[in-house]
Amino acid sequence: MKFTAEHEELRRTVKAFVDNEINPNAETWEKEGIFPAHELFSKLGKLGLLGIAKPEAWGGMGLDYSYQMVFAEELGLSRAGGVALAIGVQTDMATPALARFATDDLKEEFLAPAIRGEQVACIAVSEPGAGSDVAGLKTWARKDGDDYVINGTKMWITNATQADYICLLANTSDDKVHKNKSLIIVPTNTPGITFSDKLNKLGMRSSDTAQIFFDDVRVPQRYRIGAEGMGFMMQMLQFQEERLFGASMAIKGLEMCINDTIEYCRERRTFGQPLIDNQYIHFRLAEMQTEVESLRALVYQATETYINGKDVTQLASMAKLKAGRLCREIPDGCLQFWGGMGYMFESQINRAYRDMRLTAIGGGADEIMLGIISKLMGTLPGKKKG
Ligand SMILES: Cc1cc2nc3c(=O)[nH]c(=O)nc-3n(C[C@H](O)[C@H](O)[C@H](O)COP(=O)(O)OP(=O)(O)OC[C@H]3O[C@@H](n4cnc5c(N)ncnc54)[C@H](O)[C@@H]3O)c2cc1C
Repeated sequence: MKFTAEHEELRRTVKAFVDNEINPNAETWEKEGIFPAHELFSKLGKLGLLGIAKPEAWGGMGLDYSYQMVFAEELGLSRAGGVALAIGVQTDMATPALARFATDDLKEEFLAPAIRGEQVACIAVSEPGAGSDVAGLKTWARKDGDDYVINGTKMWITNATQADYICLLANTSDDKVHKNKSLIIVPTNTPGITFSDKLNKLGMRSSDTAQIFFDDVRVPQRYRIGAEGMGFMMQMLQFQEERLFGASMAIKGLEMCINDTIEYCRERRTFGQPLIDNQYIHFRLAEMQTEVESLRALVYQATETYINGKDVTQLASMAKLKAGRLCREIPDGCLQFWGGMGYMFESQINRAYRDMRLTAIGGGADEIMLGIISKLMGTLPGKKKG
């Protein structure tokens, strides 16, 4: 991966945004369990940061995904993981399919305002009975005249209570489960939509997560993204950016855990010497940094593959898996060296431990990544039988 002066300029801009606009508010937003998405997204939009890899015709910068990866990497420095997650939902989870497959009218109505930061988007795939098993979702959008009438429930939806629209995956026919789904844009002020209270989470507490209920929700069929029945395929493509984004964001977040721990262990003394002077501790931190570099290499390789127009499914799944594993191992290993202070809610390592735990679960759990990688390696039993 060769970075240009433009990449470095972008890196500085994003880091400055995180330092000046996010981190000073992190404590407050964590306590409040929400951050002002419209206000923050509007600032990001003015800097062009919500449309880095989106088409210029809709207000984006039209850059390749390596720039988006740099954006995600620097967002990893956010002291409130929930804010970085919410931004990622806007740029890499709820809008990639819209940018790629929607009609110009739909892009004008929903993509352009999301890039400007005037509208907040959310992505609604998971349901109470279908998270990993996306094909098994039960929400239906049935045709009625020129409309769809939607009924069902979506679960754990990030940005839900602040979103202006939902990118919804729903069944639109009785065809096979991989061919019967469509992605539909649903404005959140449509009659029949209600939300649960904010869900009480282990981490990512600054982001609002809620259930969404659809009761005879009527939207025009022209709000469908792309062809009917292609929703599952489009969502699988959309997942590639989500997974690359998640893996990229983990790099600097993990490094921050290591650096915070080095600082803490230099200050904290036991048995007459700083903790860091214990060989077990500085060797363990050296191992962790080595692991982060291996994640970085994998993410860069996946990104290069993606911008060269090749299928990135295997590498993106590997990067997401590696990130998921390290997001459990490194914050946990670091927290150990903080002792009792690490167990306290107010310590930075405690928040990182709680926030980063999501990486191995959201957007496809580690085991789902292993399934995809195995399938592409030709070792998945079901695949052989087929
Ligand atoms: C904070 C948060 C924010 C989220 N935001 C969103 C959002 O914005 N939009 C959205 O659509 N969803 C969102 N989700 C949902 C998330 O994507 C799902 O939780 C995730 O996909 C896992 O689904 P599940 O929770 O139903 O787990 P399940 O599918 O019930 O699986 C439970 C566990 O079983 C294991 N498992 C599952 N299948 C297999 C298998 N085949 N082989 C071996 N092991 C397996 C895995 O360890 C998995 O973690 C969010 C979740 C959280 C916690």
